Amino acid sequence: MKTQPTASHFIDGAYVEDATGAPIDVIYPATGKVIATVHEATPAIVAQAIDAARRAQPVWATLSGTERGRILRRAADMIRDRNHDLSVLETYDTGKPYQETSVADATSGADALEYFGGIAATLTGEHIPLGGDNWVYTRREPLGICVGIGAWNYPTQIACWKGAPALACGNAMIFKPSETTPLCALKVAEILHEAGLPAGLYNVVQGKGAVGAALVTDPRVDKVSLTGSVPTGRKVYAAAAEGIKHVTMELGGKSPLVIFEDADIENAVSGAIMGNFYSSGQVCSNGTRVFVHRAIKEAFLERLSARLGNAVIGDPMAPETSFGPMVSEQQLNIVLSYIEKGRAEGARLVHGGARLDREGYYVQPSVFADVTDDMAIAREEIFGPVMAVLDFEDEDDVIARANATEFGLAAGVFTRDLARAHRVAARFEAGTCYINSYNDAPVEAPFGGSKLSGVGRENSKEAIAHYSQVKSVFVRMDDMEAPF
Ligand code: NAD
Repeated sequence: MKTQPTASHFIDGAYVEDATGAPIDVIYPATGKVIATVHEATPAIVAQAIDAARRAQPVWATLSGTERGRILRRAADMIRDRNHDLSVLETYDTGKPYQETSVADATSGADALEYFGGIAATLTGEHIPLGGDNWVYTRREPLGICVGIGAWNYPTQIACWKGAPALACGNAMIFKPSETTPLCALKVAEILHEAGLPAGLYNVVQGKGAVGAALVTDPRVDKVSLTGSVPTGRKVYAAAAEGIKHVTMELGGKSPLVIFEDADIENAVSGAIMGNFYSSGQVCSNGTRVFVHRAIKEAFLERLSARLGNAVIGDPMAPETSFGPMVSEQQLNIVLSYIEKGRAEGARLVHGGARLDREGYYVQPSVFADVTDDMAIAREEIFGPVMAVLDFEDEDDVIARANATEFGLAAGVFTRDLARAHRVAARFEAGTCYINSYNDAPVEAPFGGSKLSGVGRENSKEAIAHYSQVKSVFVRMDDMEAPF
């Protein structure tokens, strides 16, 4: 497959190059080899994208929701038709196995375009009677120009999760992918325009943090939606606050997964695997603090180790591979350093723990047991395949410990006791919770974090509130009174 894109950026309905921007090499994580090079957006490119969005957005906002939605749904169908090629590209961009990308990435992007394409025609205001002949009606209006800034773990999905609701509500989008995975968003832009999206409404510009910052601080930008780490979130939120811009912040986490003694152990092990090792552990909502009731701890660890032995680690393009490399050498080194910290802090390594002796950025799925709450591997987001297993005996105690974190993205509970399941879910301080499951993210459900993990929600009807604003129109039919 050709991995070098036609050009670095997609602006005003066309691929655009400006080779004076600093080159960014795209590295295939399975080999460490350069597979493409893009150029960072220059100020001229950023200006071109903002100008294009400014020209296109007011016209787009005057279309009916049905007309806007039809284009998004057509793009969804085209993405599904091209799922194979898009999944291969996603694998080149991220290193995630094709076994995953073919069912989780372009497909979830298509789901978002279909969902928000469907909802576009239903966006309406309200009529609010005030007694007598007076009333207020509300209009749900777009925000204007939205900037999306992506992380590297789900480049196609993030490009669609931000683009679909923005466009459905009548906004224009300028999307800056992560510099680590710049390829997939260009395809999303290409397909949207092939599906009939007018030029200028979905633009992709490449670059690192400085390009993101240039977009966020531009006074013509109305909204910023970031998927990234908490430190970046702090900077972007502060910069957006300068201009009193709308924000959505999808940030990091260190989520708890609580497994009670009455849980179905095989299901709980599946939850722990999905919550720690899918995408080689590079998922924001991962349940990396696994609290296991002392009564079933050894049985749980035994089944977990046995099941991890079935992981097929290798060439991400091979259909049987179920565990791929880390996205970059830098991320690999972060993970290896945390494995070292876990050892040094006295946790018991029960599985994995080593880099693989092969090309690419591979590390084994790794599990530490006997982890205590104060250890770095139990407190800090690693964003890699390192599971920390902690013991507990008492429900109140485990809830307090699960919530004793600055993060609040997700949380999960495994138990057969229905009342306990709902009680625990209600007490979790997290935006996205799971009962006897982990890491599902259907477009129909709100997704996002509380505490330091974020502001706002993606997906579902909730996202509409974050890509539109309500105007109240007061209507007086009788005479207006005044004091003099
Ligand atoms: P990162 O914070 O390093 O970068 C995220 C994006 O922000 C990149 O595109 C980067 O170029 C850009 N950026 C950096 N500095 C900026 C600045 N000053 N102004 C504007 N943009 C700037 O994150 P990452 O390493 O790419 O991704 C991993 C992180 O993302 C993890 O913390 C993970 O939990 C989080 N994440 C969260 C979600 C979620 O939905 N909550 C999803 C995926 C990843």
